[in-house]
Amino acid sequence: MKVSELGEFGLIDRLTKIVPINDKDVVVGYGDDCSCVNINGKLILFTNDIQVENRHFLKSLQSPRDIGWKLISVNVSDVLSCGGIPKWSQISLGLPKELDYSFIENVYKGIKEALDFYRFSLIGGNISSSSEIILDLFLVGETERFLSRSSAKEGEFLYINGYTGLSRAGLELLMMRKKTYEDFEKRLIKAFTRPVVKLDTTKLLQRSANACIDISDGLVADLGHIAFQSNVKTILVKEKIPVHPDLEAFCKKYKKDPYDYLLYGGEDYVILFSSEKDLEEKDIFKIGFVEKGRGVYLLDDKKEIELEIKGFEHL
Ligand code: MG
Ligand code: MG
Repeated sequence: MKVSELGEFGLIDRLTKIVPINDKDVVVGYGDDCSCVNINGKLILFTNDIQVENRHFLKSLQSPRDIGWKLISVNVSDVLSCGGIPKWSQISLGLPKELDYSFIENVYKGIKEALDFYRFSLIGGNISSSSEIILDLFLVGETERFLSRSSAKEGEFLYINGYTGLSRAGLELLMMRKKTYEDFEKRLIKAFTRPVVKLDTTKLLQRSANACIDISDGLVADLGHIAFQSNVKTILVKEKIPVHPDLEAFCKKYKKDPYDYLLYGGEDYVILFSSEKDLEEKDIFKIGFVEKGRGVYLLDDKKEIELEIKGFEHL
């Protein structure tokens, strides 16, 4: 049997059964954005996320600096989605022998820029040769309260701390390989190549969030994780999902349906969380609510439609 036949989650399911966790200091193991251990009363987060050439990035279309920045951002996003802040990291590099040094040097300049921006350190790593470029970061964070995917409750509201869909539009624009781009198109491309994680949301999440996840696979796919792991029905209110003017301009120009991007575009690195509080904070959008039941629904002008869970497939 090929691993692709099992799919990402089927494979995880099988593999984790081989190595069950039997350790009382482990607060959260497999199945969330980070794992979490209790070290002398402190909640420490672990996460790792990889960027593989031709899978996550294209050397011909993205600058090495941006690739370095993004490697850091995608990992910070997972730490934030558990309510934490990043502290220390290590890196594994797989590099083709013929790779030009200047490429990896510039990846590191992007990594440095991101480390300074998010305020944490890279303190170790290792290198191997490989057929494609592989950049894998292992990140350690700290949290006061672990925010999991599996704790949404009926009666809560759903919030996001930014816009969705921009990154996918940016990727499509990049793939068009146009000679020139309009300003709004450049901004969309940047949303894909240089995502910025809003770490300043940590305090609000610590205060108010219950279930929490970062949107890497798409709003519906990641809300699906909350819904199924929390055993609740989640309802998105169509007109409450914010549409960024740049995405609107993109959809108008290329005759696309913005909801394909808002609901199913991935790599937004925006935080999606549930809270019983009726929040009114700047740049926090209330987009839905949680009820008894199961699944992900869209409320469109009083009509409730069950949404198919589709998003980025990792295998
Ligand atoms: Mg995540
Ligand atoms: Mg991740």
